[in-house]
Amino acid sequence: MTDALADKLIDGDRAALARGITLVESTRPEHQARARDLLTHVMDRTGKAWRVGLTGVPGVGKSTLIERLGGHLTAQGRKVAVLAVDPSSSRTKGSILGDKTRMGALAVDRNAFIRPSPSAGSLGGVARKTRESMLLCEAAGYDVVIVETVGVGQSETVVADMVDVFVALMLPGAGDELQGIKKGLLELAEILFVNKADGENDTRARRAQRDLEAALHLFAPVSPHWSPAVLRGSGLTGDGVEALWETVKKHRQALDSAGALHAKRSGQQVRWLWSMVEERVLQSFHADPDIKTLAPELERAVADGRLPASEAAERLWRANQN
Ligand code: GDP
Repeated sequence: MTDALADKLIDGDRAALARGITLVESTRPEHQARARDLLTHVMDRTGKAWRVGLTGVPGVGKSTLIERLGGHLTAQGRKVAVLAVDPSSSRTKGSILGDKTRMGALAVDRNAFIRPSPSAGSLGGVARKTRESMLLCEAAGYDVVIVETVGVGQSETVVADMVDVFVALMLPGAGDELQGIKKGLLELAEILFVNKADGENDTRARRAQRDLEAALHLFAPVSPHWSPAVLRGSGLTGDGVEALWETVKKHRQALDSAGALHAKRSGQQVRWLWSMVEERVLQSFHADPDIKTLAPELERAVADGRLPASEAAERLWRANQN
């Protein structure tokens, strides 16, 4: 059965892709087993897409920009998939991409596929589902996969670790707003895009661009092969969107020619393997009846300062080994 689904998916059947992603997202063990099977079947078809991460606070203009960029790419004959990592999302509340009407034109574009974030769960769980969905999109022939995040908690780090290039959208603002930038973002982003550089925002956007360029000099570049680029433009007017894609291309060329893209992806895959192993080990640890009995008592003793945490950890470990 999974074979038939894999064949249809590889054929570019959108319903099969959606069904595959539903399997990947399901928490039912039999669905998870089928999803693993499906992934194994299509594995040799994956890896060909350009994987682009995109972050920015709510309201910065992510959907507007993705709509614009996506349209630009599908017009060139590319197939674009848009996925999201938003661990805070739930299907009823305003999760990113929950509302496809925000990307109206792209949502009805035959060469685009938009999927909202898997609904709320642990960041690790949401990230696993998005990674696997990305592989399915690649197998279905999508050659650009955009992974969007609002950057809650560690989600930026997690998305940066599943894509080839990570783009941060910024709001035009004066220098003092630089202080508001989440710590670590400037170390993750390979391209910074000051958005909404239109109308009366233009002067502020230019200043923000200059300030960001200056700030970036304070950091060591993420990669020895690429120094972060700071651009400005507008998802609304489309200004700078082509330049953004040109910069994505340049980034790719820079990494590719140095053999660094392959190394980057290999590293990501191996880290992903171990994060899944760690998650399962931890789950099985917590599910151990001995641990369940012992843990509350030990937690209390540690909380009250009666027992060193190291000794409590040792006792839990020993209980699990028996
Ligand atoms: P998201 O929450 O990051 O996905 O942001 P949206 O794309 O939904 O945009 C939030 C608001 O900003 C909407 O009212 C958009 O019309 C507006 N907006 C988005 N992009 C631009 C832009 O480039 N320039 C201007 N002036 N407004 C924009």
